[in-house]
Amino acid sequence: MINLLDLQLNELEDLMKELGQPKFRATQVFGWLYKDAEKGAQVKIPAEKGATEKGAQVKIPVEKGATRFDQMTNLPAELRQRLAEISRIDMPQVLRVQESKLDGTRKYLFGLADGNAVESVFMRYKFGNSICVSSQAGCRMGCSFCASTLDGLARNLTAGEIAGQILSAERDTGERISHVVVMGSGEPFDNYENLSSFIRIINNPKGMNIGMRNITVSTCGIAPMIERFGDDFPQVNLAISLHASNNERRSSLMPVNKRYPLEELIDVCKRYTKKTSRRVTFEYTLVKGINDSEKDADQLAALLRGLLCHVNLIPLNRVTEKDFDTTGKIEVKRFRERLELRGIPATVRRELGDDIDAACGQLRRSTAEK
Ligand code: SAH
Repeated sequence: MINLLDLQLNELEDLMKELGQPKFRATQVFGWLYKDAEKGAQVKIPAEKGATEKGAQVKIPVEKGATRFDQMTNLPAELRQRLAEISRIDMPQVLRVQESKLDGTRKYLFGLADGNAVESVFMRYKFGNSICVSSQAGCRMGCSFCASTLDGLARNLTAGEIAGQILSAERDTGERISHVVVMGSGEPFDNYENLSSFIRIINNPKGMNIGMRNITVSTCGIAPMIERFGDDFPQVNLAISLHASNNERRSSLMPVNKRYPLEELIDVCKRYTKKTSRRVTFEYTLVKGINDSEKDADQLAALLRGLLCHVNLIPLNRVTEKDFDTTGKIEVKRFRERLELRGIPATVRRELGDDIDAACGQLRRSTAEK
């Protein structure tokens, strides 16, 4: 059985051809799956006669984002039946939601068809709604402070399972999502083919139509894939998890550095920025006493000098199983100022959902243990 959400529009067109259908049927099905014009629209329902209230704002039912073939009312009945025989529409199921009382951030635990579970985080910003999606169930990169990697990699997610996290969150909130970051569990460049299908699916104007510049992919630094990504998706934002400014420290935090050390990583970033003219974001999680000294800031500034980039400082989220501590707010501010003084633009990640299990992989683990 095919999960229809795994198919790009051109693949859906091939399928329609095999079924002896005209090409435009593919666009219709794709629209039913992904187009969200009607999602979450507010309509006024008139009050019943004699009622004292003036009527209520309600969300109209989601008309697109179909999960069943009988909802695809403009398809011939035989085609609907044929599709039901050979395919499914597998949306991730909401297993748990934690909502932040502080800012409305919603953290989802989604169940996949085979029983695996992944996390996504829905966030509200001034510029619109954003979602952080997972690209793998678990991870095999082994970064020392990350909860996603503690049990290793279960498996890659398919393109439809990554896109489905967006659909399910839109359905659950009744709100449109305009920005996507691939920064949940997993290493996206360890699942490159499905990642690129996913990007093409959500970018397609006949579906979700999420602009390339509204998509960000975060990698631990698999150098050859950065090169390829720059060729394939020059407009998608690239974030690289750096976390240390010398090889010894970085290798101890991130095993991937033994394979692709800093010289190689910075080199590929230089080529990337030259080719795409896009700024790279370096994520730098501050860990108390490990990478947050003044010397670390100076070394980081020296490493990045002359590179078209920006540093995003992330205060560590404590992971129960690990012995790492968070850098204090004042020290974080000092670190940022020191970088800026040395000409490196830096921001501190706004902490959303501080009151919920926000660190990668923590919700998935806390549920698995119960
Ligand atoms: N594998 C990709 C994307 C997933 S991790 C990558 O490495 O970039 C997303 C970001 O969260 C990475 O920068 C990661 O290092 C960081 N991160 C992981 N665990 C964290 C924790 N406990 N506290 C703060 N940031 C963490």
